[in-house]
Amino acid sequence: NNMTKHNFSAGPCILPKEVFEKAAQAVLNFNYSGLSILEISHRSKDFVAVMEEARALALELLGLENKGYQALFLHGGASLEFLMVPYNLMKVDGKAAYLDTGTWASGAIKEAKHFGETLVLASSKSENYNFIPKDYIVPADADYLHCTSNNTIFGTQMKSFPKTNIPMVCDMSSDIFSRSIDFSQFDLIYAGAQKNMGPAGVTLVVVKEEILGKTGREIPNMLNFQQHIAKESMYNTPPVFAIYTSLLTLQWLKANGGISAIEKINEQKAQLLYTEIDRNPLFKGTAVVEDRSNMNATFVLTDESLTEKFDAMWKAAGISGLTGHRSVGGYRASMYNALPIESVQVLVDVMQELETSVQ
Ligand code: PMP
Repeated sequence: NNMTKHNFSAGPCILPKEVFEKAAQAVLNFNYSGLSILEISHRSKDFVAVMEEARALALELLGLENKGYQALFLHGGASLEFLMVPYNLMKVDGKAAYLDTGTWASGAIKEAKHFGETLVLASSKSENYNFIPKDYIVPADADYLHCTSNNTIFGTQMKSFPKTNIPMVCDMSSDIFSRSIDFSQFDLIYAGAQKNMGPAGVTLVVVKEEILGKTGREIPNMLNFQQHIAKESMYNTPPVFAIYTSLLTLQWLKANGGISAIEKINEQKAQLLYTEIDRNPLFKGTAVVEDRSNMNATFVLTDESLTEKFDAMWKAAGISGLTGHRSVGGYRASMYNALPIESVQVLVDVMQELETSVQ
């Protein structure tokens, strides 16, 4: 069907149209080589150049070049980082500190417990994770602090980060490259690609090299960040196509002004939608206002009997991926970098039509 789609999917999600076009072209004929990107060696000159550019561009966009950081493109999703982080950073007989701000944060905590003492400094679980806890003390003797910058399922986002002298680790899967923050306050950042960076199948890890190699643990090669750094992110065959498509997305972001430019548009999109959620008596946001995410807006109908009608209306408008996660219910509008503001306007129009239709 040729109708314009407005894709609010939480991830995998919309990517820029030109990225889809260039990726499709590379499947047929990569760099005019007469070969598909899917059939060349990852050690070929053409692919090594892709890997090098992707690693460098990720650091450049985050403002982390020449600051002792390395960018890696790994397999296993953000979920594998839940255990690679403690494996590489928690000392034998050490301890780690975590903020429990959602399903993914609590998944990271579960994995850390396999490695040692795991302190949960604060949790918003009792309120179904509808806010970001702010009152806690970071222990100075923990090996690291782990936080989740954006809680994809519950629609909350950390607007500021604790100041601490211990290494800071952040799961940025659902808001990396979407807003300007001082990324150098973190010692390790990881993100599954499948929101703002590219297709599923690759994970970006940005790590300050000096924090590695201090645990006293034997780490299997595949799970050892130092091994991946030594092999220039090619310890084994990398997910070639996912990395190439991520590079295309990062190039698109750079050509469009980088993070500071996209941040302004992301703020406009979020403001457009939240203004309507707050104005329209038929809708109610589920996250506490000050912690609301600019990436994932979660909301419910105030009158559930309108569900069928509203669902039919947004589907008829070409909107897709709006159904909320089962643990929150209602709706979730994910407004990642590549989603145009016009799509948000279409959603707002439908919300207003619903209001008019019941008057
Ligand atoms: N962390 C966050 C914040 C996420 O949103 C997700 C997935 N949506 C994950 C971790 C898990 O990522 P993956 O599926 O790549 O393992």
